[in-house]
Amino acid sequence: YKARAMDLAVYRYSSDLEPPAMAQVQMLRDLRTALSENQFVLHYQPKFSLRTGLPVAAEALVRWQHPQEGLISPAQFVPLLERCGLIGNLTRYVLDAAIQEGASWYRAGLPLSVAVNLSARNLLDEDLPRFVLDTLARHGLPADRLICEITETAVFSRSLTASTILDALRTAGVGLSLDDFCTGYSSLSLLRERTIDEIKIDRSFVSDLGTGRRSTEIVTALIDLAHRCDIIVTAEGIETKEQQRLLTDLQCDYAQGFLLAKPMPAALARQLFLDSLRVPGGLGPLRWRGGV
Ligand code: C2E
Ligand code: MG
Ligand code: MG
Ligand code: MG
Repeated sequence: YKARAMDLAVYRYSSDLEPPAMAQVQMLRDLRTALSENQFVLHYQPKFSLRTGLPVAAEALVRWQHPQEGLISPAQFVPLLERCGLIGNLTRYVLDAAIQEGASWYRAGLPLSVAVNLSARNLLDEDLPRFVLDTLARHGLPADRLICEITETAVFSRSLTASTILDALRTAGVGLSLDDFCTGYSSLSLLRERTIDEIKIDRSFVSDLGTGRRSTEIVTALIDLAHRCDIIVTAEGIETKEQQRLLTDLQCDYAQGFLLAKPMPAALARQLFLDSLRVPGGLGPLRWRGGV
């Protein structure tokens, strides 16, 4: 971190690494300030229907707008906030800002959901559903326009609290999405034990498509499996036309990736969405929540 120039060189240029231990002490101090002074900003990465080509949702991805260091990626500070019991504060900030943004799309007549990433630790926080529902009501966003992305490990902690929280969210109409699907050890048991609305096939499988490993077979079977369970499939991390073509052929529902759109500031995302309203023929039907 800033003061530890030697350590800094190690991680500063590899934005997906956490800083070394010494630097984390300083970082934690700065993070406390960041939380109280709201130094966080959300970028939005659109998610598109592969069938219609139109945006159906956008995922809120947090960045830390550090006064000296500039934008810092979540991979660098989310794990630290989790370990220090501060992730609930960040999650509440993210939920509030993302729901507010989602409500502005809603008022503009855009048929889009907004997705927020939850941490495993958030699923031990009994007050979370109340906070989510209050925030939806305060900003005027219908619950079925919000998607909570969770990872397998978080859901499968088998804690009673996690189940209660997920049940409460889902009963209220919030969509549940399993992020980084197939990178944990419990993917299939999870599909059996919980009702979820969407799986997001991890980028590692998408980038392997067509390379001769078995990813194509696995992804084909996953899409079929999900559809048989009435679950929507999103592919993460599409970077090539070839991946897009393959996934479209395999009837994957939705896609996200740098090829289609990178995460972008809220104002840019809103402009992209408003422009998409003007696509000839209008918007295709939304398939979220078994729509069509
Ligand atoms: P994730 O939820 O799986 O988000 C996808 C990540 O992949 C994002 O990185 C996104 O920018 C990146 N990505 C999207 N398309 C492509 C692509 O085509 N190629 C490549 N190489 N990458 C792509 P980002 O924004 O750095 O976020 C990383 C992770 O940090 C997220 O993974 C999520 O687990 C976590 N995260 C982000 N925002 C939040 C948040 O508000 N709360 C919590 N708890 N975690 C968050
Ligand atoms: Mg996600
Ligand atoms: Mg993911
Ligand atoms: Mg991922």
